[in-house]
Amino acid sequence: MKQNQCIAIDGPVASGKTTIGKELAKKIDYCFLDTGIMYRAVTYLALEKKINPNDTGLLIDSIKKLKFKFIPNSTNYQVNLDNKNITKHLKNPTIEKHVSVVATNSLIRSELVKIQREIAYSNHIIMVGRDIGTIVIPNAKNKFFLIASSIVRAQRRYAEFKKTGINLSFEIVKSEIENRDKIDTERKESPLKPAHDSILINTDKMNIDEVVEEMINNIEINK
Ligand code: C5P
Repeated sequence: MKQNQCIAIDGPVASGKTTIGKELAKKIDYCFLDTGIMYRAVTYLALEKKINPNDTGLLIDSIKKLKFKFIPNSTNYQVNLDNKNITKHLKNPTIEKHVSVVATNSLIRSELVKIQREIAYSNHIIMVGRDIGTIVIPNAKNKFFLIASSIVRAQRRYAEFKKTGINLSFEIVKSEIENRDKIDTERKESPLKPAHDSILINTDKMNIDEVVEEMINNIEINK
C-alpha cells in the first residue's frame, strides 16, 4: 500500500473534517481515521494519570498503554487505555481545553505520527487532522483543506455540545475554538496549514453532501 492511496483532510476546529471524512469513507469504501482522537487520548491519559504534560518521557512511555483499533466494517474506531474503552470521554470540554497544548509537544507528535503512518501504509484510508497533508502523508495524491468562518464553526460545535447535554455559552465555545486555532496555527512543530498541493474548500455555505460531492469530483481513487 502506498501513501498515494490515502486521502488527507486537514482544517481548523469544527470545519467539518470528521463528519465529511466519514461520509466520504462510506461512499468510496475507505477506512477512516480521525487523528485528533489520538492527541485527545494522550491528553486524557495525562489528566487521568495526573502526568504533567511537560513530562514527555513519562507520557511517551504511557502512550504504549493506548490501543487504537478500528471497528471492522464501519467508520468508527475505539481507543482503549489499559483495556478500558475510553472513546466516549475524548470529546468532553476538559480534554478540549488542554489538547492543543499537549499537541505542541514535538516528541509526542512524532510518536503519534509513527502510528498514523503505519495505519496509512496498510489501509485505504481517509485521515483527518491538522498536519496530514503536510507531515503525516505528504505524498498522498488527494489532499483537502477545509475552511469555514469561526462563527459558523462555533455554531456547529455549540449545537453538537447541546445535543450531548453539555451546556456552555456560545461565546465560550467560540473563544475556545479561536484559542485552539491560534495555538494550532502558531506552534513551531507541524503547524496547521494547507499543503501546497491541497484543494481548499470553504464549507460556510455548503452542506455535507455538497462538500462530499466536491471531493468526489476531485479525487483519483486507486484501489
Ligand atoms: O480535530 P480535533 O479537534 O479532535 O483535534 C484536537 C486537537 O488535536 C487539535 O486542536 C490539535 O491541537 C491536535 N491535533 C493535531 N494534529 C492532528 C490532529 C489533531 O495537532 N493531526
